[in-house]
Amino acid sequence: MLRGRWRAHWRRYNGAVKNCDVLIAGAGPTGLVLALWLTRSGVCVRIIDKAAEPGTTSRALGVQARTLEFYRQLGIAEQVVDRGLKFAAANLWVKGRQVGHVRFGDMGVGVSPYPYMLIFPQNEHERFLIDRLAELDVRVERPTELLGFEDRGEHIIARLKRADGIEETCQAAYLAGCDGARSIVREQLATGFPGGTYAHMFYVADAEATGPVMNHELHVALDDAGFLAVFPMKGEGRARFIGTVTDSAATATRTLEWSDVSTQVIARLGVKFERINWFSTYHVHHRVAAHFRVGRAFLLGDAAHIHSPVGAQGMNTGLGDAINLAWKLAAVLQSCASPKVLDTYEPERITFAKRLVASTDRAFQLVTSDGPIARWIRVHVVPRLMPALFKLASMRRLMFRTISQTAINYRHSALSSGPDGTLRAGDRLPWVKVAAGTDSSDNFAPLSSLDWQVHVYGAPAATLVDLCNARGIALHAFAWRDEMRDAGLAQDAVYLVRPDGYVGCADRGASADALAHYLDTWNVRSRLAH
Ligand SMILES: Cc1cc2nc3c(=O)[nH]c(=O)nc-3n(C[C@H](O)[C@H](O)[C@H](O)COP(=O)(O)OP(=O)(O)OC[C@H]3O[C@@H](n4cnc5c(N)ncnc54)[C@H](O)[C@@H]3O)c2cc1C
Repeated sequence: MLRGRWRAHWRRYNGAVKNCDVLIAGAGPTGLVLALWLTRSGVCVRIIDKAAEPGTTSRALGVQARTLEFYRQLGIAEQVVDRGLKFAAANLWVKGRQVGHVRFGDMGVGVSPYPYMLIFPQNEHERFLIDRLAELDVRVERPTELLGFEDRGEHIIARLKRADGIEETCQAAYLAGCDGARSIVREQLATGFPGGTYAHMFYVADAEATGPVMNHELHVALDDAGFLAVFPMKGEGRARFIGTVTDSAATATRTLEWSDVSTQVIARLGVKFERINWFSTYHVHHRVAAHFRVGRAFLLGDAAHIHSPVGAQGMNTGLGDAINLAWKLAAVLQSCASPKVLDTYEPERITFAKRLVASTDRAFQLVTSDGPIARWIRVHVVPRLMPALFKLASMRRLMFRTISQTAINYRHSALSSGPDGTLRAGDRLPWVKVAAGTDSSDNFAPLSSLDWQVHVYGAPAATLVDLCNARGIALHAFAWRDEMRDAGLAQDAVYLVRPDGYVGCADRGASADALAHYLDTWNVRSRLAH
């Protein structure tokens, strides 16, 4: 049926075929970062968006440390940090009483060069990424809509509708569905989008206000009647408020207004609003597509998973998808890895997405549920438990690693090979300084090559040097320092680092054999060796 309909379109519109390696449908943050990495790697992309203009509302505010680490690889982290607002502390309030205060710097120090969460409104973020792409001579084609596509085995043929209403076809080696929660790519792949929708209606407001929570820190307030999250924004007296609307407003069919928000939590925090700059209401969904890949088409970002805004994970998870897929597509298109690496995209990312949706779901149920047990936990257990947990250094570190996404690992991926140890294959390469004192050089600097590389912390064996030279794989040897052991690294061990900064192969025996086997299994070649 589809094929017959497709053929009719093909006959009618096959006048204009524009080819590319990767067609990216959707120029939200996920599609833009995918386009940036691919273009930086020398892959030819087309990126289209059906909207005439980029989004103008702030939506996702939080940029996590792991995203900034990826941005550093792309050479854009410092510019993003300069444009954003670092916030270094989080506070917990219960029924108007402050019960916890924790500094991110203390939590994340030594874990990442970016031991904080950065506030950078999504509209400014998207504009910034669009400008970086334009510098590489890639322009988002808009309004250009993906109407449908056919996977012909050898390539994808996509049907696009341009601004002038004319339809054209595009032949691409791969299609990346970055087309958001209502993805047409997902619909056509028929993967399903299992999950659900929360009954509560939420509001998001960017506001100018006064009160104790307007201090450029994050505040989460729990109450018996709901919750409120206050994210700082750049500029004096500005913040993002996320909370619930009143029960009567939640069931109303009219357009909701600021007067519909639940005011009890706000009043208990002593917030006085001066101006509401943006107000929107929405239902929160929790869904994960059953598959992230079918043939030559992939799903990323909100097209693949959506969940509650708890923890500012949504956009960052989409950006993680983009990086994971980008290096694999580039490697396969440029014969730097076996096409089998593309099979690892879905298992690596769907596992994390499912775990994230389940954990944000539990947290969200706890902070929003009207049930007596959830209320009792919010009002009586949380105020006692959280301050005690915040006092434990190990717990603060775990919290930072979880929220910042630096704890994501791919240990169970087919791409991860190596024995158990503190640092295992599939883990993110731990960040360490490579010189003492004020010298700020670190082991993440070489990751800007976006290429496979071998790291040795200590002295590389002669056989390893020979192998890396023969295969054209960059070998980075860093003089051993005791702090490296604390980060999980083993002296003289061999770590093959993937282009996205995860350890592919770890060999504590310092031999070149395990590395050679891995390179042969995955047909790994350096981009520079071509
Ligand atoms: C009100 C609101 C508040 C939010 N707050 C937060 C927050 O605080 N923290 C957080 O992490 N996340 C938040 N989010 C979610 C966050 O905005 C998304 O996770 C993020 O935008 C996902 O990025 P994406 O690129 O995957 O998809 P999107 O940003 O949805 O981009 C998809 C793009 O695809 C385009 N498109 C769709 N169909 C087609 C087609 N057929 N052809 C071509 N183009 C197409 C769309 O025009 C769009 O530009 C919020 C969202 C909303 C709406």
